[in-house]
Amino acid sequence: MNNLKAIVIGAGMGGLTAGLALKQAGYTVEVYDRVSELRPAGAGISLWSNGVKVLNWLGLGAEIAQIGGQMNRMTYFNSVGETLTDFSLESLVQRVGQRPYPVARTDLQQMLLQAFGVDQVQLKSRCVGVEEDETSVTALFEDGRKATGDVLVAADGTHSILRQYVLGQTLERRYVGYVNWNGLVEASPALAPVNSWVIYVGQHQRASLMPVGGNRFYFFFDVPLPKGTPNQPEQYRAELSKHFEGWAEPVQRLIQTLDPLKTNRVEIHDLDPLQTLVRGRVALLGDAGHSTAPDLGQGGCQAMEDGAVLAQCLCTNTLGVVDALQRYEAKRCDRVAKVILGARKRSEMTHGHNPERTRQWYAELKQEDGGKILDAIATTILAGPFQ
Ligand SMILES: Cc1cc2nc3c(=O)[nH]c(=O)nc-3n(C[C@H](O)[C@H](O)[C@H](O)COP(=O)(O)OP(=O)(O)OC[C@H]3O[C@@H](n4cnc5c(N)ncnc54)[C@H](O)[C@@H]3O)c2cc1C
Repeated sequence: MNNLKAIVIGAGMGGLTAGLALKQAGYTVEVYDRVSELRPAGAGISLWSNGVKVLNWLGLGAEIAQIGGQMNRMTYFNSVGETLTDFSLESLVQRVGQRPYPVARTDLQQMLLQAFGVDQVQLKSRCVGVEEDETSVTALFEDGRKATGDVLVAADGTHSILRQYVLGQTLERRYVGYVNWNGLVEASPALAPVNSWVIYVGQHQRASLMPVGGNRFYFFFDVPLPKGTPNQPEQYRAELSKHFEGWAEPVQRLIQTLDPLKTNRVEIHDLDPLQTLVRGRVALLGDAGHSTAPDLGQGGCQAMEDGAVLAQCLCTNTLGVVDALQRYEAKRCDRVAKVILGARKRSEMTHGHNPERTRQWYAELKQEDGGKILDAIATTILAGPFQ
């Protein structure tokens, strides 16, 4: 379909990818975000090869290679620093055809913004509702403004208000059962080999470092905790020191190195898979349509895949917007459901949902030569829209 006008609500990685894909398809695109300054929540993200492929398709391959980290190996240690398994990622890259790029979120967002047009994102625009008729759809903003187009992309994140419009009901997110601290530190061999993704596991917890561009590590800690524990940055160091007492020296060093005021502490939630992603001319995209635990590192990658598939459905079909969105839904529902359920299962295994299974996993890691882990990662990547 030619000459469409798309209204995109949300300038996160999902909304911007969709906006860019639709713009490149020749559509008029307006992107709106509620904030007055775009600052992504969270520090880093592992952009697996399926996400990178979407960026390659959009012509951003050289840019993401520039800002992404060189992650060549993967190493699991136990809590006291004994190696459980250590292997190269090269066979994964050869199999799927593209390197993964862990990246700082602000760098990723800047790259997408520059590509879309920084001045073309309308800030201070909180969408509060939608109206649609036979021929158009209109976003309603808090301050009374309206924006009308042929299609509306609801990329308003995990707390989406547009989800309610699409589904006709409000859904509660589900607490996955653990708290995640994350941030960035300067890369240093005293913390981890600078081109490896390093993960310490034990006591149903994880501590991890992965290289992002700019000579930095993206780090995270996971600890199973009840919902609602206090979130006080001045306590982060003490809290982590307590949870990771007795863990290996690099973990202790990381806790002392991190800047608590630039560290995020998040209670991890997901959403049961949805059977519906569209209503009329409105399509849910990214976390608005499928919030997943980060245990497969796929939430943002799926948002990017959504953007590419949505643009392809609109471009390659001629029976109208409503029909094209139904095709988008048909292509995306199973894919994102598998990711949500896979991440949930992995989270349960990692975080001691069944302590015997977690103990077994630690034992399996000792026997692992990388084959099974890379096979699982490759299978997820290759189920995406770009083979
Ligand atoms: C701890 C953690 C680690 C993660 N690690 C990874 C990883 O390694 N790899 C990976 O691929 N994914 C990862 N994810 C998931 C990833 O962060 C999300 O899937 C991704 O940010 C979703 O992008 P989005 O554009 O859908 O939503 P968001 O990035 O949340 O963007 C939504 C945008 O919509 C705006 N907005 C919200 N409501 C309104 C409104 N009413 N009107 C206007 N604008 C509105 C917001 O201001 C925001 O800018 C992780 C998530 C967490 C929590």
